[in-house]
Amino acid sequence: MPNKAEKIGVLGAGTMGAGIAQVAAQGGFATLVYDIKQEFIDTGLGRIRSFLQGSRQRGKISAEQEKQILDRLHSTTKLQDFQGSSLIIEAAPEKLELKRDIFKQLDGICSPETLLATNTSSFSVTAIAASTRHPERVLGLHFFNPPPLMALVEVIQGDRTSAAAIEKATAIMREMGKTPARAKDTPGFIVNRVARPFYNEALRILGDGDASVETIDRIMKQAGSFRMGPFELMDLIGNDVNFAATESLYRAFFEDPRFRPSPIQHRIVMGGNLGRKTGRGFYVHDKK
Ligand code: NAD
Repeated sequence: MPNKAEKIGVLGAGTMGAGIAQVAAQGGFATLVYDIKQEFIDTGLGRIRSFLQGSRQRGKISAEQEKQILDRLHSTTKLQDFQGSSLIIEAAPEKLELKRDIFKQLDGICSPETLLATNTSSFSVTAIAASTRHPERVLGLHFFNPPPLMALVEVIQGDRTSAAAIEKATAIMREMGKTPARAKDTPGFIVNRVARPFYNEALRILGDGDASVETIDRIMKQAGSFRMGPFELMDLIGNDVNFAATESLYRAFFEDPRFRPSPIQHRIVMGGNLGRKTGRGFYVHDKK
């Protein structure tokens, strides 16, 4: 069983990082959140505070629990402060070279016992681990959006990840109240690969002029019993993140047309309309 004195590091305070940090702190772990600028940390922590406030107002947690969770959360803009962490979960933008560079730096900062996990949606864990001197402690921990509400975490073993690292990370995920599921280090793992046609086919229907954004989402929810339609989900995920995942799968499967990204989504990304996080995507959102 993981020791609650173990420190968890979360790299990135964006959509996923803030949610993962909340989950770790709720699980009883002292949690250190890093981002490149204080303003990104403030936004991420602000989101956690309003989530917890809502939970308290709905009677799901007490004021005391809310305070304890917030007290376990710490932040930094210095990567060196991750020294002494038991597990670091990276949730930086979906760019392979950026992730490889971050892991190389973490590898130099942390002792070989520190587990280094990536929350990548689509890159190979083995490729990220290859930038380190200790690939045996590098693994994938793929959370789903929003992390505090989604139970599943895909646990991915790279070619050189040790069984001990997988076991320990799996135990920590359980301690955080998550449902870990083992997935192989293949492009998109399980969920993102299965989900690709959900987004891509919806974008093709839109591109062909066969149905509108609203109609596709409504039908998938009302008749298909999906909680969110594909366009609502892309806006929640972030169109940049979703597009990057599709592009990466397309490349990883050697341009298999099943995974070809949509020019519509590309245009949306290039226009800065990233979804909920920018207030505009396929829909207009209230940024608050
Ligand atoms: P995001 O853009 O919301 O957040 C990324 C954060 O990382 C930003 O706050 C950014 O400032 C920070 N960051 C930290 N170090 C950085 C560095 N060196 N350079 C640049 N930025 C740095 O992205 P996100 O949606 O939270 O996605 C993060 C990761 O999680 C990606 O790998 C993504 O594929 C994956 N993921 C996303 C979702 C989703 O629904 N959004 C779901 C599962 C996995």
